[in-house]
Amino acid sequence: MLLLDRKTPKSILILEALLRRLDSNDRDFSYFQDYLTRLKFGHEGEHRVDREWFEMPYLNEHFLFFNYEIENEFGFSHQIDTLLLTKHFLLILEVKNIAGRIDYDEQKHQLIRTRPTGTEDTLTNPFDQLHRHEELFHRILSKWKFSLPIEKAVVMANPATIIGNVPKSPPIFHASGLRSFIKKCLVRHESQLTTGQLDKLAKQLLSRAVSRNFDLNISVDRIRKGVLCEKCNYAVAMTYGRGIWTCPKCGFESRDALLRALDDYRLLISERITNREFREFFNVDSGDAAQKILTRLNLVAVGNNRGRYYIIPDNLLSR
Ligand SMILES: [Zn+2]
Repeated sequence: MLLLDRKTPKSILILEALLRRLDSNDRDFSYFQDYLTRLKFGHEGEHRVDREWFEMPYLNEHFLFFNYEIENEFGFSHQIDTLLLTKHFLLILEVKNIAGRIDYDEQKHQLIRTRPTGTEDTLTNPFDQLHRHEELFHRILSKWKFSLPIEKAVVMANPATIIGNVPKSPPIFHASGLRSFIKKCLVRHESQLTTGQLDKLAKQLLSRAVSRNFDLNISVDRIRKGVLCEKCNYAVAMTYGRGIWTCPKCGFESRDALLRALDDYRLLISERITNREFREFFNVDSGDAAQKILTRLNLVAVGNNRGRYYIIPDNLLSR
């Protein structure tokens, strides 16, 4: 049973919003562009591996948590790509989407990737990450008084990755090997938990899941304000009149362009907006017009008169 689904991470949504509004001449534009590409690449890899889970009838009673985030007792975050809970064991999985060849130097704790072009770079090594997660779950299980073995593995999402010299443990293999790995784990460990205990542990794990904040700390001065024209690749701010946003450059008219813009505002600046902030950011001169727009959006309003602000919901684009 899937308890925690994999959503598009907030970091990706925020970077997409930022790149819509950042000038392409901005000093950090290509940095953010590369950052987004890397995040998307990783997310796609995780999705590819996720599909494997739904072809394992022998898994019986189990719980899956995709992108499970938890805070440890020291206040630091653990982000686990996939967590599988069965009656036999708990599995922590790191998913890597890497192009080229990887080799690991155990002495130096260094993962080296050789790109198809021959250039080398070092990557965050997943083995130390897994050990860190494993230690945490040992502490959690013992605190909660569950006796359950912990398994861990690194899965390569990209079938073209060449796995070179790597340690024997923890195992590292291609996504196609996940099924046989799970089968072996099921044979290796006998069932340890009753159905009631399994359910209880799953519930406790779910209740501890947190969602990390992602903040780029970009000053408002660096981003393009306004409702931006999608036909002009978000480079031109549209003007408002009688319920419609119009692009002064290409003439495109839209009622809904505001929703995308307001969602950008939520992701980049704040999920709260006052009438004044709205007028300033979206270039609406009249307070009454702004009021009408905000009322029509059916947002939850908090407070009265001058202190009143509206809450921009995170499902603004889909509701
Ligand atoms: Zn336009």
